[in-house]
Amino acid sequence: MNYLNELITLCDEIGCNNKRNEPMSAHTTFQVGGVVPLFMEPSTLDQISRITAFCSQRKIPLRTIGNGSNLLVADEGADIALLCLGSNFAGIHQEGETNLICEAGASLSSVCAFALKHSLSGLEFAWGIPGNVGGAVYMNAGAYGGEMKDVLARVIHVSFDGGICCLEKDALKLSYRHSIYKENSASIALAEFSLRKGNQDEIRAKMDDYITRRKTKQPLEFPSAGSTFKRPVGGYASALIDQCGLKGLRVGGAMVSEKHAGFIINYENATCKDILDLVAQVQSRVKKQTGFELELEVERL
Ligand SMILES: Cc1cc2nc3c(=O)[nH]c(=O)nc-3n(C[C@H](O)[C@H](O)[C@H](O)COP(=O)(O)OP(=O)(O)OC[C@H]3O[C@@H](n4cnc5c(N)ncnc54)[C@H](O)[C@@H]3O)c2cc1C
Repeated sequence: MNYLNELITLCDEIGCNNKRNEPMSAHTTFQVGGVVPLFMEPSTLDQISRITAFCSQRKIPLRTIGNGSNLLVADEGADIALLCLGSNFAGIHQEGETNLICEAGASLSSVCAFALKHSLSGLEFAWGIPGNVGGAVYMNAGAYGGEMKDVLARVIHVSFDGGICCLEKDALKLSYRHSIYKENSASIALAEFSLRKGNQDEIRAKMDDYITRRKTKQPLEFPSAGSTFKRPVGGYASALIDQCGLKGLRVGGAMVSEKHAGFIINYENATCKDILDLVAQVQSRVKKQTGFELELEVERL
């Protein structure tokens, strides 16, 4: 990658944590993926902005990630500089009576716990989704009838040239597993959630219920990226895969979970290629047997 040393020098000058040749298997919940030449963990909005502007000026390919819980990285890695917004950039504070302003690296679990502590309701659905705020906004993550769209008020992002912008909810183009951030290369930096005052015991009971359902139904004991496929119009990916008799189907170390057919799991030292070959087999058999086309929900790097 051109200008790599200059980018490292910039990171060092502005105090941004950075690692060379970092294996992505250590940063994805699938636990697969080769190395990226530079992995940066900024801790301030200014660092994100300066790194982004530098990469834009020198045409260095740059991508922002969160907890890697919806990410599949090629075994060969990727010739790209990565901004990882995680625990270094994870502040949460209450704004007024009912709003929370969260840095993109805050985990959803910490935001949900904060909301519970302050008796704020609306985010219970997100309890147990293992992503960070930025990834959740990007994906419009959702579960149990709720989604980010229901609770987001506005987002502050760093655009490709390093400029800092704010988008109100209506400009975010939020729909099923979609946001405007899938259409541009901005880095989501902060999100404001608009919640409502609630009863702490009721909030806790809902969160407990959701986590119990996850533990009962999902193969949480294996590495995965959650639901591998999007819900097709008129059907459910897991039901279709199950109906085709594909539970337990394996390619190398990748397997269609026997517990939840919608999850492809890293059963035993899977490679990215194993997972993608299994994805292709599932897609083709479901298409042939049911006519439904399954689209990947998991993002690729
Ligand atoms: C066991 C398990 C259960 C899951 N359950 C659910 C569920 O119920 N509902 C659901 O919706 N998802 C679920 N997921 C998937 C995943 O947790 C969500 O999609 C989550 O929102 C991804 O967040 P992340 O921080 O891990 O993003 P990553 O995986 O790091 O990134 C996902 C995408 O977002 C982009 N991105 C991340 N952060 C930023 C940022 N700051 N700025 C710009 N782009 C960014 C990345 O480039 C990538 O394209 C599950 C995953 C697992 C492993």
